[in-house]
Amino acid sequence: MNKCLLLIVQLFLIGHFKVSGIHRFGYSNYEQRNWRREHISCGGEMQSPIRIDSFKAIPLRMPALEMIRFHDYLPGPLDLTNNGHSVTLSLPKLPEDDPYQKYIPYVFGARLHNEYVLEGLHFHWGDTNNQGSEHIFNDIRFPIEMHIIYRNRKYDTVGDALNYTDGLTVLGFFFQISEKENKGLSNIVRNLKHVYSVNTRYMLNETFTLASLLPSSDDMERFYTYKGSLTTPPCSEAVTWILFPDPLPISVYQMNKFRNLASDTNQTPIVKNYRKLQKIGSRRVFVRKMKEKIRYHKTNETISYDKWDWMMRPKRSKV
Ligand SMILES: [Zn+2]
Repeated sequence: MNKCLLLIVQLFLIGHFKVSGIHRFGYSNYEQRNWRREHISCGGEMQSPIRIDSFKAIPLRMPALEMIRFHDYLPGPLDLTNNGHSVTLSLPKLPEDDPYQKYIPYVFGARLHNEYVLEGLHFHWGDTNNQGSEHIFNDIRFPIEMHIIYRNRKYDTVGDALNYTDGLTVLGFFFQISEKENKGLSNIVRNLKHVYSVNTRYMLNETFTLASLLPSSDDMERFYTYKGSLTTPPCSEAVTWILFPDPLPISVYQMNKFRNLASDTNQTPIVKNYRKLQKIGSRRVFVRKMKEKIRYHKTNETISYDKWDWMMRPKRSKV
């Protein structure tokens, strides 16, 4: 498909859609306890989310997480959906031989044995600023947590991938309240008004980079990783979790836009769409062990030519 044709297709697609056939589930304590009745995996031994404690995590040398096409615009049209229990941003579903496949970001490295292709992202949040995230990091529950879903390239669809322990990897990012708006996140937040009603879908007429939503790659060098599950039914134990401990900023204004999304036709807001903590059991949480970095910077000193000692290298100092 050439770019012009893609644009025409996009123009037809942009706009609202009603979504049907989405599986309903609730987040009250009673409802969460009942997830396992319909979905046996929800009662499994490798469930998510869990409590992460930096002092209990096992330091392990492992490669960095390589994020390919991190700075490229996401292929569109991007699809924003309010499914009644979260808001999701999805990439278009392209056949394996579609030339636009090569623009889809993917990751490898860390403890992953394959490449994992971006599928989309969604959020979990609370109605107050001291709750909302699913994972708890060092006893802190952040107001919102973003999950970026990647599918193992060896499986054709997310549905297939859910049947395998190496099916998905999910990157988890926390946000904390800040006075300033998070400009990158505004790419999503300013479009939430289009999916205020439950079961609505909106094709964005814009695109952006993953990098605009995330910390700089330097700030993503340290992460925690463990084997777990989807945090919503069917709770498939198919997820390698990779969690980044340093929270990103979000303003109260932006936070409230999430809290305005409706979970049903009575306009009940989606709030507290986070699963209760699950037992770690015999699982281990690893933290990437970093090599001690020796950083150098040039001194501001200038050296006059006649004082230059040709036997010495230019002066550098340790910090
Ligand atoms: Zn999630």
